[in-house]
Amino acid sequence: MNDAVLVVGAGPTGLAAAHGVATIGRRVVLVEKEDVLGGAPILSGYAKLVPSGEWAKDAIGRMVKRVEDSKLIEIHRRTKVTQLDGDRGNFTATLSTGKTVQAGAVILGTGFTHFDAINKPEWGFGTYPDVVTTTQVEQMVGAGRIACPSDGRTPERVCILLCVGSRDRQIGREWCSKICCTVSTNLAMEIKELSPQTDVFIYYMDIRTFGLYEDKFYWKSQEEFKTKFVKARIAEVTIAPDGKRLLVKGEDTLVKRPIVIPFDLVVHAIGMDPNEENPEISKVFGVGLEKHGFLERGEHYTSTFSSTRPGVYVGGAALAPEDIDTCISHGLAMAMRAVGDLNALAPKAA
Ligand SMILES: Cc1cc2nc3c(=O)[nH]c(=O)nc-3n(C[C@H](O)[C@H](O)[C@H](O)COP(=O)(O)OP(=O)(O)OC[C@H]3O[C@@H](n4cnc5c(N)ncnc54)[C@H](O)[C@@H]3O)c2cc1C
Ligand code: SF4
Repeated sequence: MNDAVLVVGAGPTGLAAAHGVATIGRRVVLVEKEDVLGGAPILSGYAKLVPSGEWAKDAIGRMVKRVEDSKLIEIHRRTKVTQLDGDRGNFTATLSTGKTVQAGAVILGTGFTHFDAINKPEWGFGTYPDVVTTTQVEQMVGAGRIACPSDGRTPERVCILLCVGSRDRQIGREWCSKICCTVSTNLAMEIKELSPQTDVFIYYMDIRTFGLYEDKFYWKSQEEFKTKFVKARIAEVTIAPDGKRLLVKGEDTLVKRPIVIPFDLVVHAIGMDPNEENPEISKVFGVGLEKHGFLERGEHYTSTFSSTRPGVYVGGAALAPEDIDTCISHGLAMAMRAVGDLNALAPKAA
């Protein structure tokens, strides 16, 4: 039996798992396909995280540092696993670098892919430069200035459209991405902090600022930052006759009236798709996919975080849209399961 654990993906889930396994005193091989560790919050340049309000580069940066500092964790950047042979207790992974790695258990923290807003063409992304995504606005907040990409002006009116690429059966996205309501209410406040004269509107089907996020984000953004919430069904985003402003067209579903409202900047609150590499990951690791394309769980209650292959565990946004706190809990739980299951396999001392 090999008592090392192979962790794939160095986002919040994989970083928590790797650190958890090392804390128990076991060796970890961490494989990340990108140059930098940290997953989506670092790769996409998120600004201040919800709910902590900490800058992503600081919060996730601390997670990266303790993994990089650990003597028990061997890190392979710009690397993928191309083949996984063997069984629980004795896996051999072939890496894209040609190296092979022995491990007793495998943890998949391979995460998600941001919805590409180009797949919702009637809402103007890719057609009009001033239609942007939440990740682009996060980067603007990080740079300290909100601006219309077309000409750099500070927008007088910004609207955030929720559920872009989520809860949309027409384009095969039936799931709620869980965190984008909270992220959007937070972004509305950040926009207002940077540009107090800007009016911010949020167009929604439902508001899902779950758990304790209701007063901290939903109510605070309305009451203290004057964000205006409009329950609406949006049909399209077009350009105004002045060739400058955008027109958001649809129906106000509370008063049941058509609306056509001008904005300077339209923001798509993009959702979380399954990792676009999941078909390949499923093949390489021999694990199943659930019907939407996320990785499939084994059994929920007594074999939590099992994939469909014994000895291979899966958690975080690889399983379904999740927030970072939940991903960290998944990572730690997988570390405990992997080491606990390896302990159970080890020959007992007489
Ligand atoms: C716009 C937006 C803003 C958000 N803001 C917040 C927030 O403020 N607070 C919050 O709690 N949550 C937020 N989230 C959710 C957050 O992004 C996720 O909870 C978190 O990133 C998921 O972590 P993860 O490690 O599971 O996946 P990821 O962050 O996706 O990390 C996966 C890692 O695995 C790597 N990888 C993928 N495939 C492979 C492979 N085949 N081989 C090797 N490596 C691979 C990737 O490169 C990546 O480094 C936001 C989401 C969106 C869309
Ligand atoms: S969290 Fe909010 S914006 Fe995101 S998909 Fe769910 S309801 Fe829509």
